[in-house]
Amino acid sequence: MSTDPLEWIDEELVRLEQQGLRRQRQLRSGPQAANCVWDGRQLINFGSNDYLGLANQQDVSAAVQSALPLVGWGSGASPLVTGRGDWHVQLEKKLAQLERTESALLFSTGYAANIGAIGALVGKGDVIFSDAKNHASIIDGCRLSQAQIKIYPHRNVAALATQLCSTREARRRLIVTDSLFSMDGDIAPLPELAELAEQHQAMLMVDEAHATGIFGERGSGLCEHFGVEKRVSIRIGTLSKALGSIGGFAVGSQNLIDWLANRARPYVFSTALPEATAAAAIRALQIVHEEPQRRFTLLAHAHELRQQLKSDGWDVGQSQSQIIPVIIGEPSATMRLMQQLLEKGFFVPGIRPPSVPDGESLLRISLRHDHTRQHTAPLVNALRELRT
Ligand SMILES: *Cc1c(COP(=O)(O)O)cnc(C)c1O
Repeated sequence: MSTDPLEWIDEELVRLEQQGLRRQRQLRSGPQAANCVWDGRQLINFGSNDYLGLANQQDVSAAVQSALPLVGWGSGASPLVTGRGDWHVQLEKKLAQLERTESALLFSTGYAANIGAIGALVGKGDVIFSDAKNHASIIDGCRLSQAQIKIYPHRNVAALATQLCSTREARRRLIVTDSLFSMDGDIAPLPELAELAEQHQAMLMVDEAHATGIFGERGSGLCEHFGVEKRVSIRIGTLSKALGSIGGFAVGSQNLIDWLANRARPYVFSTALPEATAAAAIRALQIVHEEPQRRFTLLAHAHELRQQLKSDGWDVGQSQSQIIPVIIGEPSATMRLMQQLLEKGFFVPGIRPPSVPDGESLLRISLRHDHTRQHTAPLVNALRELRT
């Protein structure tokens, strides 16, 4: 009698189901927009990170089309071999300009950028200080690096200071944080973190994934908003959220970027992105520059929606951005509410562990620049009805 060595998976899946944690994959049809078709149903879309509507913007798509006849699609090799082309170089220049740094390095995703950068900066004998709510790609980067990891309570600068004081003997120290937290929409205390990093001569790494294109006068992110760009050793961003394309990047000094190009393993050992995607991102950056009203409208509308939800008694946490959590607590109650909203025509993803800590399951409302009150007023009403 033969037994299937994968049989244990059946039991594990049943366990996930019982805990309300089993995820089902859905089918989305058509492009990203304020409305979406989800498993064949027309819904108002509050689930996308395409905050500025660039994932399906005409000029961005056209940039891909005009690059294709010149460079084709695939890039054939790692950027260190023959994979790095003209559009990649142009995009790195534009990113360095936007972020007002000497240099930039493109990765295939933001996930890869975090893994690569952390692993290149610290290793055995070093210590990383990581916010308890940092994104999974930062967590994985910390683990892979083999450095000692100290998790500090979310946005708690005093606790971090204590940890820094107790690790003076370490070879190198790295403080790492999201700038805009991806599930709660709240903001890291960047000036205080910069202050601590300077006091303790620690490196400071800031992941701007959800803030790139949204915050700051030029739209470069929260480091710009707080005026701490020069005090942050390395900044990470993604091209796949507000910029509507694909890819991740690191920016900083020329030396830092040279080091990452030599030592960040996802850069060295992974094929470069198709050049046409770089052409798209360049066009998207231009739109961020030329049409700042996209981000201004978005942030103003987000402020209004948070106020409405709060006055209806919902817990929106400390959100200060286009990411608005409605904190429910238990995963099954959260998923039930998500399902009820679906039936009323709203797609608002329920977020459960391991994406959030136990007891902090939430509905994550993700606003787009082209959502109007015609989209959000019915959502507020629907939530109000479901509450009573
Ligand atoms: C989404 C996200 C990433 C990963 O970016 P991708 O380009 O989607 O791989 C990294 N960091 C944070 C904070 C994110 O929210």
